[in-house]
Amino acid sequence: MNLEQKFKQTLSKIKLNKKDKILVALSGGKDSTTVAYLLNKFGYNIEGFHINLGMGQYSERCFKAVKKLCEQLDIKLHVYDIKKEMGSSMCYIRTAIQNKKHGKGLKNCAICGVIKKLVMNREARKLKVDKIATGHNLDDEAQTFFMNILKGSPQLSANSGAVTQNTKDKKFITRIKPLFYIAENDIRTFSQKMKLPVVYEHCPCAIDSYRIQVRQFMNKLTTKEKENIMKNFDILSPKIQKLKTEEKLNYCEICGEPSRNKICRMCELVKE
Ligand code: AMP
Ligand code: ZN
Repeated sequence: MNLEQKFKQTLSKIKLNKKDKILVALSGGKDSTTVAYLLNKFGYNIEGFHINLGMGQYSERCFKAVKKLCEQLDIKLHVYDIKKEMGSSMCYIRTAIQNKKHGKGLKNCAICGVIKKLVMNREARKLKVDKIATGHNLDDEAQTFFMNILKGSPQLSANSGAVTQNTKDKKFITRIKPLFYIAENDIRTFSQKMKLPVVYEHCPCAIDSYRIQVRQFMNKLTTKEKENIMKNFDILSPKIQKLKTEEKLNYCEICGEPSRNKICRMCELVKE
């Protein structure tokens, strides 16, 4: 099966509706760019969403690539500028958090990930979209599943899948991952072949995560082996779901966003 066929198969698994309004989270990288390109090609109703992290030249290049893509596809682009909205760039926000007592030892990617996720959900809700699509691919997902196994906590994968299995809540926008079953190498080849406007370099701040070590190890595996890891995931997923204790969802006392605790992860991080 080629990339486009696998993509379509995943969409039918997700039961994506052509009437759904989908916000594609565009980083400027090959994965999310490919998602937007293919959803557009297959006639889905999409708009783009980009978070400008304000990290110098790198962010400028990403923003430029995203703008070019949206022009080429003739789709609307929504931009969330971290510097304007939150007062400073991701680098400053992150360092400030790491310098606080409760932020010591937190990795760059962990902090950035929490902030991006919360912003994406909140802005998507404001835009009244039905779904958020991200570029997470087979390699990302196999890494996550494997990392959770290495931590001895497979239940951390309970919310994973080509569609997020999050507790249903009107404030949570469903997230979909159309590249869930597609290997990173195949996506790179495809985006190059189609000459999509893509920034191929890695984020300069992604320097210290556990994921990088796991990725280096997993890069030695074949695509078949990575697919097999996700085959395990698909088989185990219903059982992992059952391990999940029924979560009561709260709304953060500070910002009102959905949260498992009284105060959401983002407000926890930025508090004094
Ligand atoms: P990452 O966690 O950086 O590997 O990104 C995973 C997915 O999140 C990407 O494929 C995008 O869909 C989305 N994403 C990451 N960074 C951004 C960004 N700056 N703006 C919008 N979406 C993003
Ligand atoms: Zn909050």
